[in-house]
Amino acid sequence: MNLPDEAATLAFGAGLAALVRLGDVVTLSGDLGAGKTTLARGLLAALGLEGEAPSPTFAIVQTYAPPETRLPVAHVDLYRIEDAGEAEELGLDELSADHVLLVEWPERLGADWWRDALKLRIEAVPEGGRRLTADVPP
Ligand code: ADP
Ligand code: MG
Repeated sequence: MNLPDEAATLAFGAGLAALVRLGDVVTLSGDLGAGKTTLARGLLAALGLEGEAPSPTFAIVQTYAPPETRLPVAHVDLYRIEDAGEAEELGLDELSADHVLLVEWPERLGADWWRDALKLRIEAVPEGGRRLTADVPP
């Protein structure tokens, strides 16, 4: 799918908000600046979040819960994760049980972690926009 500008990325995130359920995991892949956080912001805004969601790069995990958002959401950025041990400490399994889990930099952990995830990838295109591809779980 073509995302010609930032508004399109936000709108895609908003559309995804209508589809996700508790326990769903969505991974967001792509280079720095691809638009992963932008997509997450679109989803969070559509779930009712007021104001701009911060990038979780430093906090690693940002959680949102009603009434701030209609569904509990955990927005995770694994960029700074060094190994699976650190990921265990984040309690991703527990988080995913009762949140919609959005994960930037899923590649920091093995593919086993994301078996059941909706895998989205965002890539820059020469024209300046982005291309989004999806890998739907079996
Ligand atoms: P990431 O989380 O992948 O590092 P961010 O979402 O923080 O990326 O930043 C993406 C940058 O690209 C922002 O400046 C945003 O405005 C811009 N952007 C997002 N989507 C698009 C798009 N479809 N076309 C062009 N620019 C975009
Ligand atoms: Mg980001």
